[in-house]
Amino acid sequence: MDSKTIMTGLFGHPVGHSLSPLMHNQAFDVCRLNYRYAPFDIPPEQIGQAVAGIRALGFRGVNVTIPHKVAVMPYLDEVDEEAKIIGAVNTIVNDNGRLIGYNTDGRGYVRSLIEETGIVLEEQSVLMVGAGGAARGVAVALLQKGVVDLVIANRSFDKAESLANDLQSAIPGKRVTAISLEEIGSSISKRTLLVQTTSIGMSPKVSESPVPKDLLHKNLLISDLIYNPLKTQIQKDGEEIGCRTHSGVGMFIYQGALSFEYWTNHKAPIEEMRKVVMSKLEMR
Ligand code: NAP
Repeated sequence: MDSKTIMTGLFGHPVGHSLSPLMHNQAFDVCRLNYRYAPFDIPPEQIGQAVAGIRALGFRGVNVTIPHKVAVMPYLDEVDEEAKIIGAVNTIVNDNGRLIGYNTDGRGYVRSLIEETGIVLEEQSVLMVGAGGAARGVAVALLQKGVVDLVIANRSFDKAESLANDLQSAIPGKRVTAISLEEIGSSISKRTLLVQTTSIGMSPKVSESPVPKDLLHKNLLISDLIYNPLKTQIQKDGEEIGCRTHSGVGMFIYQGALSFEYWTNHKAPIEEMRKVVMSKLEMR
């Protein structure tokens, strides 16, 4: 690292498992940019000082992950409109000492979904399972990019309802409905896209699925935000009856690509980023 190296990184707690340093450093190398990306494990009580450190140390910016995505917001000079609607920031850009917060998760998801499946969002009737942090970003981006009909099913019905209400008022003109997980059966037959945003099916509980196999039908495209494992139980169940599937790995790559583009003003080398991430995931 020389004196002109521009620093970026990841603020999280923990951060040891993250593939972001590998992916971003590969992208900087491929583009011959004198940038580096490092992980920083920040305890919650020190997040304010860590954000001030971005300015003090002259970092170009950072990604923010669990548990800091909401907590960083009051320490920023500006939060863009989309991140405000989502209520969380995953990317900070330092523009000459002015810290601006963005959220690239949802847009990253939608870019991956469209490029990898070719579907037209306006034509989709969507069932989203889960109403946590990732679901918020994905739902905002789906509605902003063309989806008009969205049903949100969640174990805690009140969270689905409150997300549906927030979305209705932030993005008018859409049909957004909340149901409980038990009510999926009455709504799924008319749906064309199922977006799985819960943590069910993640390693190590890889044989679990939030939707019973007998409710799936072959007209569904099953998109899962999880990428470890690369194929989840709900995707395996769907493929057995002829469903198309879409993996969460693309969301991870594209959310990073958008952050990279904010920091460098340089087009992200998507295929090289995908290659290095896939090689690591396939080794796991
Ligand atoms: P979160 O805010 O903690 O939300 C978790 C969601 O899962 C909630 O809807 C929760 O329901 C539901 N849930 C958890 N355990 C459940 C169970 N046993 N039964 C039924 N529902 C359950 O987490 P998050 O940040 O949104 O992340 C969710 C998933 O998305 C994770 O698997 C994460 O790896 C993945 N993700 C992927 C990317 C990517 O780049 N591909 C990015 C972000 C997240 P309740 O509300 O009822 O608790």
